[in-house]
Amino acid sequence: MAESVAEFDLIARIRTRAAAWAGPRDDVLLGIGDDAAILRVPDGHDLVVSTDTLNVGVHFPSHTTPFDIGWKALAVNLSDLAAMGATPAWCTLNLTLPESDAAWLGAFLDGFVELAARHRIALVGGDTTRGPLSITVTVHGVVPRGAALRRDGAQIGDEVWVSGTLGDAAAGLTRSSPSPDGRGVGVRGDSPSGPGVDDHLRSRLHRPTPRIALGLALHAIASACIDVSDGLLADLAHIGEESSVGALLDVEALPTSRELVAAFDEITRRRLQLGGGDDYELCFTAPPDRAEAVLAAAKSVRAQVTRIGRIEAQLGLRLREADGRIVDAPVLGYRHFDAGDAGDAPA
Ligand code: ADP
Ligand code: MG
Repeated sequence: MAESVAEFDLIARIRTRAAAWAGPRDDVLLGIGDDAAILRVPDGHDLVVSTDTLNVGVHFPSHTTPFDIGWKALAVNLSDLAAMGATPAWCTLNLTLPESDAAWLGAFLDGFVELAARHRIALVGGDTTRGPLSITVTVHGVVPRGAALRRDGAQIGDEVWVSGTLGDAAAGLTRSSPSPDGRGVGVRGDSPSGPGVDDHLRSRLHRPTPRIALGLALHAIASACIDVSDGLLADLAHIGEESSVGALLDVEALPTSRELVAAFDEITRRRLQLGGGDDYELCFTAPPDRAEAVLAAAKSVRAQVTRIGRIEAQLGLRLREADGRIVDAPVLGYRHFDAGDAGDAPA
C-alpha cells in the first residue's frame, strides 16, 4: 500500500527537495516556509508571470507516470516564458492530490526537479490540497526592460518561423495507450514504424523541451512570438489576431521528424502538424532582412528553425498546398469548452 503522510509532511518533503536543487539564487530572499516568498527583481528588468494547470484525464492521460507529470507541469509553463523571451527565475506549485502518496510525490518531484535544475528556476512556494489530481504551476521570469517578445508585433511582409518539428506530440498521444490492433490511428499501411519511433513520439508528448535559450536569442530579432501549445494554426491565429494581420503558410515547408514520417501517412501527418497541440515549439515572425540573424541566433543555441510562411495584410490563415493552390486554413486545434473534445488537452 502507498505510504500515506500528513499534509505538513508532504510540504516538508517538497521543501527539502526545493532546497536541494535550487542552488544559491541570491534573488530569493525568502523561499518556502513563511506565509509568502520574498523575491527581488533585478534592476532594469521587467517581471514576466504565467500560470498553467494540468488536470488528470484532460491534460494528460491517467496512465501518465508521476515523473512525466512533474516534468510536463513545469515544462508547459517554462514554454510560456520562452515565448516571451524571459529568463526563468522562480515558480510556485499548487498540488491537488487524491491521496497523500509519498512514493508518487517523490517520482513527481524527480521529474519536476530535473527540469527545474536545468533552467535554474527556484520553487519558492505553493499550496497542497486534497482532491482529483490537478497541478498548477506559476512561473516568474525576468527580461531586460522592454525586451519581452509579444504576440502583437507581427508586421505585413514578415516571415513566419517555427522551431523544432511539428506534430510529434499529437502523434505520441495516438500511441500513448495500446489500441485494439496495437497500432494506433492513421498509421502507415505500407511500412511498420521502426524501432524507437513510438518512444520518440511519446517522449515528445510527455517531456516537451521548453525553448528558453531560443526565446532569449530572439530578442531584438523576432517581431512576435508564441509557443505552440494548441496547434500551429490555432497559435499562429493568435499572433494574427493580436497583430491585426493574416498569414500564408507553405505546407510543404513544415518541419517534420523522421519518426513522424515513419509512423503516419501524409494526410494524417499534415493534420497532426497543423492542428495537433502540445509541441511547445516557438512560432515567431521576423522581417525578411533579419533572416540571417534568425539563423545565426538559432545556431548559437543549437536550435533548429524553419521558415514556413509569410505575414500578409489579409486577415486569417491560408495554406499553400504542394501543387501551389492556396486554400483557407481549416479550423483546427484544441478548444477546452467545445463539445466532443477528447483525450489530451494542451495546457
Ligand atoms: P499557509 O497556510 O500560510 O498558506 P501552507 O501550510 O499552505 O501555509 O504552506 C506553508 C509553506 O509551504 C508556504 O511557504 C507555502 O508556500 C509552502 N508550500 C505549500 N505547499 C507547497 C507546494 N505544493 N509546493 C511548494 N511549496 C509549498
Ligand atoms: Mg496555503
